[in-house]
Amino acid sequence: MRLNSLSLRGFRNYRDLQADFVPGVNLILGDNAQGKTNLLEAIFYLSTGHGFRTRKEQELIQFGADFADLEARVFSQERDKTLRAVLFSVRRPRQLYLGGVKQKTFSGLQGVLTTVLFCPEDLLVLKTGASARRKLLDNALCQLRPGYDRALTEYNRLLDHKSRILKDFREQPGLVDTLPDFNLRMAQVGSLLIGYRANYLQKLDRCTAYYHREFSGGRESLQLSYKTVSTISNPLAPRQVLEQQILAHQEAHLRAELESGQCLTGPHKDDFDVVLDEVSLKAFGSQGQTRTAAISLKLAEREIFRDDTGEEPVLLLDDVLSELDARRQDFVLNQIKTGQVFITCCEKDRWSELGKVTMIEGGRVMDS
Ligand code: ATP
Ligand code: MG
Repeated sequence: MRLNSLSLRGFRNYRDLQADFVPGVNLILGDNAQGKTNLLEAIFYLSTGHGFRTRKEQELIQFGADFADLEARVFSQERDKTLRAVLFSVRRPRQLYLGGVKQKTFSGLQGVLTTVLFCPEDLLVLKTGASARRKLLDNALCQLRPGYDRALTEYNRLLDHKSRILKDFREQPGLVDTLPDFNLRMAQVGSLLIGYRANYLQKLDRCTAYYHREFSGGRESLQLSYKTVSTISNPLAPRQVLEQQILAHQEAHLRAELESGQCLTGPHKDDFDVVLDEVSLKAFGSQGQTRTAAISLKLAEREIFRDDTGEEPVLLLDDVLSELDARRQDFVLNQIKTGQVFITCCEKDRWSELGKVTMIEGGRVMDS
């Protein structure tokens, strides 16, 4: 899979951009705040249907512009394809096109351009709060499984609603009667999410362990383990079993939820643990071990995408190489010799020989 060209109008700081890319390494160079990350975000948008620094569509549209128009020419599933998204600053739904044909929802574009994004925050993903790790799972699964994307949207909608009920029921006691219905639907949709996550984590565990072992010269062994609703004994169990176990957890926590006014039970609290040589990485890992594990996790993500779709996803490395020491840079660069890669960085000479250089200045491509 590869991105051959991109045109942007009114996207972030790009008024009018037209850029062509090569199949291998594309270096996006430029000083700070010139638009390097914005360019990756545009690519990410066409692959996932949202930005990676915001969920707010408005923020992606250039200040003062009425709309943003993103178009990519992609070679995918052995064919040339065109992806296009037009976002509007006024309340008007976005327009999505595949090969010029209008699509009702983003699922029409899903899987055409798959990307694995790696940025400096991802180096901390194993040390910070659980939400960063859930986001990592969600980003991958939303691209790989349209069913997951739909279930997640529905789950979040139910969660919002239930949270409002738990906040407001004191003023409107009748609301409590609607809780069983919400709990049942959240258990149904939640069991789907848990099933997908458990399967994905099983693969991620195997692949990440492989890369980490390679990286540490066989010295360290790493394991991922899924943490979900505590009544679930086996997250790989059939859906109906998961559903019953979620319902049991909800029942046991009903009083606590009413007292705290918060939704305490369900996969929106999911997390995964990383264990390094039988010790929790989060609690005891050194900075170097944490970074190595994070890199392994990203390389594993890319490999799962490749196995799953039969195509190499486009790798987006935003400023991440400059954050790594020489040994880790080499490891990453050696592992990404195949497929298309976009690397953003500020210095010109360091990696310039790796591939095609695109110089960005103030939202414009300069002759390099
Ligand atoms: P760094 O090297 O610091 O990471 P960068 O080249 O990656 O810099 P970007 O994050 O891509 O920089 O671009 C940041 C610039 O884009 C900022 O100056 C910001 O004000 C501008 N920008 C962001 N959103 C918009 C928008 N909606 N309209 C216009 N400009 C925007
Ligand atoms: Mg940047």
